[in-house]
Amino acid sequence: MFFGGMPGGMPGGFPGGGGGMGGPPKNVDTEKLYETLGVKKDASKKDIRKAYMKLSRTHHPDKGGDEHKFKEISAAYEILSDAEKRTQYDKYGLEGVSGDDVGAAGGEDLFSMFFGGGRSRGGPRKAPSISHPLKVSLEDLYNGKTVKLAVNRKVIVGDSSECSDCHGRGSVMEMRQVGPGMIAQSQRPCHSCDGKGYHATFKKERKVLEVLIEKGMKDGERIKFSGMSDEVPKMEPGDIVFVVQEKDHGLFKRKGADLLAVKEVSLNQALCGFTWKIKHLDARDLVIKSKPGEIIKPEMNTKDALPFVKKLPGEGMPSKGNPFVKGDLYVMFRVKFPDTLPENVVSELRKLLPEPDETVEYDPMEVEEVHLTSADVRSFGKGGVNSVGSEAHESDDEDDGGRPVQCQQS
Ligand SMILES: [Zn+2]
Repeated sequence: MFFGGMPGGMPGGFPGGGGGMGGPPKNVDTEKLYETLGVKKDASKKDIRKAYMKLSRTHHPDKGGDEHKFKEISAAYEILSDAEKRTQYDKYGLEGVSGDDVGAAGGEDLFSMFFGGGRSRGGPRKAPSISHPLKVSLEDLYNGKTVKLAVNRKVIVGDSSECSDCHGRGSVMEMRQVGPGMIAQSQRPCHSCDGKGYHATFKKERKVLEVLIEKGMKDGERIKFSGMSDEVPKMEPGDIVFVVQEKDHGLFKRKGADLLAVKEVSLNQALCGFTWKIKHLDARDLVIKSKPGEIIKPEMNTKDALPFVKKLPGEGMPSKGNPFVKGDLYVMFRVKFPDTLPENVVSELRKLLPEPDETVEYDPMEVEEVHLTSADVRSFGKGGVNSVGSEAHESDDEDDGGRPVQCQQS
């Protein structure tokens, strides 16, 4: 019954000669499939079929065989029994036949099937990219800049060769009997090549990269140099990626394209006006001046207690890609009140400022006159006798109850 799915009659052939493959690559494995079927490289079609029939019988999962091994055998037969695929395999190895029409693999990638690991179909694998943090000042993100950075990359000297012990996998499978009729397979790094899968000599190469920091770039943005990372045999080199890290600025905080500066003003400045000279990120001096009669308040409104802010439209950061569109510059105010005022100042202010204290009629001999003391709002709710030492264990004296007396309603 399982022969029904035999690959001999698979429709379709090798897809178009391997798409842009320029000549037979070096060090390609063209033996593995023959080894899998236990036949010689020059075996006849008949010998291959015979070997396959024998092996598939012993390794069929229904008869207690290993499923993976069975799939390998089936895939090997599928390729070697097809004259066209066999020719491609002899020339290019598995890469030459890893088309989608190889059915016996049951959806598994041929490479991972025979060699483990994940080689994506079509084109060489790409080596991992390396990313470097790149600290950039807010000034440079505002104005844009080109930074020259030297990197040391590893390049291959001469030819590299695939490790013959692990066939380039970097790891080998170890079989171990764990019980009667039970075999456990485990992977360990290949000792002969230190898990790299190849033997090669490298040298360091110094390369100067020009990193363009565009106006308006943001923290976390990536600047990529394709293929500039270390060379790895049989792989496309990875990228070097610089990740922008915005440095803290002494005056401005940034959110998107907007900037925020905090300004502390005295009560006098808050009421009577202020003049504030700042240096902008493009080194321009800006004098921020309040308009006549303009008041700076401690808070936006008393209900939400939002900070009091004003803004300079268009004085924020340039937008990346369109530096002419800029964000806004927000100024958040903190009003510094005096701790006390001399009596003569108070009497003058009382006359000058709107809404002075109203006269309240009362007899000081009959009504208690009180003053406030300093307090912290975080202590609110902690008053009363129960708060004293509430964190420590109270005495276990149960005689007098010790609990707060509940209000009895009648
Ligand atoms: Zn190896």
